[in-house]
Amino acid sequence: MRMPVLFVGHGSPMNAIEDNEWSRGFRSLSELVPRPRAILMVSGHWYTNGTLITGNERPETIHDFYGFPRELFAVQYPAPGDVDLARQVRKLIGEERSELSNEWGFDHGTWTVLRWMYPQADIPVIQLSINAKLTMAEHLDLAKSLAPLRDDRVLIMGSGNVTHNLRDLMRQMQTPDFSPPDWALNFDEAVKKAVTTRDRKSLIDLWPNGPGARQAHPTPDHFLPILYTAAAADHADQVRFQIEGFDRSFSMRSILYGYTFLNVVAGLARVINTS
Ligand code: ZN
Repeated sequence: MRMPVLFVGHGSPMNAIEDNEWSRGFRSLSELVPRPRAILMVSGHWYTNGTLITGNERPETIHDFYGFPRELFAVQYPAPGDVDLARQVRKLIGEERSELSNEWGFDHGTWTVLRWMYPQADIPVIQLSINAKLTMAEHLDLAKSLAPLRDDRVLIMGSGNVTHNLRDLMRQMQTPDFSPPDWALNFDEAVKKAVTTRDRKSLIDLWPNGPGARQAHPTPDHFLPILYTAAAADHADQVRFQIEGFDRSFSMRSILYGYTFLNVVAGLARVINTS
């Protein structure tokens, strides 16, 4: 069975410990996909010079944020790594343009979502960094090379946000205005359209030239995981937006490619077996 591909908008790190509509949404995502043998995560929080793949057997849980409650810093996500898969990913990408690294583990783009999807932390996870030096076309080309993993029961995931402007979030924190601004609504709608029509060219063109793009993403790190997941999907994949809506100006839209009836049955069977 071919695995789906999943983009998740992770939003605030607090979603890791709060029971809210977003964390309940994260939990529901695992019911829509067959149980993977491993997860390859592309997180907007690992934005590097060079293309790196985590090669640790026991990746650490990284708390890459400040000013949050102690309870959040205590969260651990002790899923194992998968060194063989990391080597396999390196071969797919090209050994000359990627490297294994033990300098990273799981950042919060990964564990704030996975602890709801797979709370047992018993599925191996590796992370692939986003190389800040690549052009959009090079990102797309690199991400396409990952697609064969889908036939090997690997769930390819991206974690970012469809709109992500921290400065605007600070402004909203100081005012009672929680409604999403027009630039956020417009950019979210443009991503939805490009993804629904499988128009990779227009998806690439969305940053930095799309409607509201510079406000939606002052930097492209949280946008690029959308591109990586779109590249690993193809025209045969049905698209489903399981989570939609805004947390202030952050679009929390998730994008699932390869949503099929059989996958849902497999996901539900797993949930019933483990509950
Ligand atoms: Zn983030």
